[in-house]
Amino acid sequence: MSPSSPSEPGRMIVPPGSTIGIVGGGQLGRMLAMAAAQLGYRCHIYAPNSGCVAAEVAADFTEGAFDDRDALTRFAAKIDVATYEFENIASAPLAALAARVPLHPSAEALSIAQDRLEEKNFIKRHGGRPAPFAPVGDRLALDAALAEIGTPAILKTRRFGYDGKGQVRIDSADTADAAWEAVRGAPCVLEGFVRFDGEYSILLSRNAGGDVAIWPAPRNRHEDGILASSTVPADADLAGAIAEGEALARRVAGALDYVGVMAMEFFAVGGAAIFNEMAPRVHNSGHWTIEGARTSQFENHIRAICGLPLGATDLASPRVEMRNLIGDEIADWQDILADPNAHLHLYGKGEARTGRKMGHVTRLLGA
Ligand code: AMP
Repeated sequence: MSPSSPSEPGRMIVPPGSTIGIVGGGQLGRMLAMAAAQLGYRCHIYAPNSGCVAAEVAADFTEGAFDDRDALTRFAAKIDVATYEFENIASAPLAALAARVPLHPSAEALSIAQDRLEEKNFIKRHGGRPAPFAPVGDRLALDAALAEIGTPAILKTRRFGYDGKGQVRIDSADTADAAWEAVRGAPCVLEGFVRFDGEYSILLSRNAGGDVAIWPAPRNRHEDGILASSTVPADADLAGAIAEGEALARRVAGALDYVGVMAMEFFAVGGAAIFNEMAPRVHNSGHWTIEGARTSQFENHIRAICGLPLGATDLASPRVEMRNLIGDEIADWQDILADPNAHLHLYGKGEARTGRKMGHVTRLLGA
């Protein structure tokens, strides 16, 4: 079914029964496809690996590389609207897709979010406050950046980092050589180490009509650079920082004419929101919304990209906690099932490798 605009001129509605193309085949694509199916949509997954966990729950699958422009062009002919659940897609092939079918969020949002330097400069222009940072293009520039920012600091690759990968902590300038070797000379940013009171994220959804719905912000805890848990509501001491983060997220979404779910991760420092990074997609720290909010991040993403009204984002329970099941933590699945407050999600991944996100559990709790 082709997109149509029956109600308001200029606002495209992709009606239920249409086919949503999702670039990327991981657990985010899997949960998006499940939410889409509930609303009567078909999903067509595009990913390089057959047998990916999103394809298992979708109507259709195309195997293709993320940088294969021709394959993405052929994929575009089979779908009514496109989205992505994975950020490391080159912008030119994605532009080929966007030229043929509506793509949400836009290629512009993706290109900002996939480069840490561009992202921080963009956020500063919109009044946000990243940790002190400096670009590092070569070994000499790392010395200059260390002199400017001091230690401890974190050297992060500009592109292709996730879950703590592509980053090295530098505690003193004499470990600069080792850090530079660890990132293999990739273009980087050096970031000041933030001594934060807490971490939280803002999860926002926006549709093409400019309606915005924001979920209560979760407090996030990371272990080894990977999200371990998200708890909602966040403790009261983060309230000031959360309000500042929400205002920034609204400004950024408006400036990008953003459509879909966007996540922004922050450090709270003495009531201030220190920006860490943004993701132009559904986010791990929003998985609790499946049972813990009146509308999940996955459903609102589908609603937004299809031009539908957004669903309510308030809590479905006084307190909600989501824990990731990482690596062999998945072995606890039987105990989790025995807990009446627990909702277990397993992603269907084969091998429980160290650091691999295998599933998550959400608990709905009393006040
Ligand atoms: P990232 O991939 O940049 O989100 O980093 C993963 C996690 O590492 C963050 O959620 C923090 O827990 C930690 N981290 C990253 N950057 C910094 C920083 N500049 N200061 C302190 N902790 C950081």
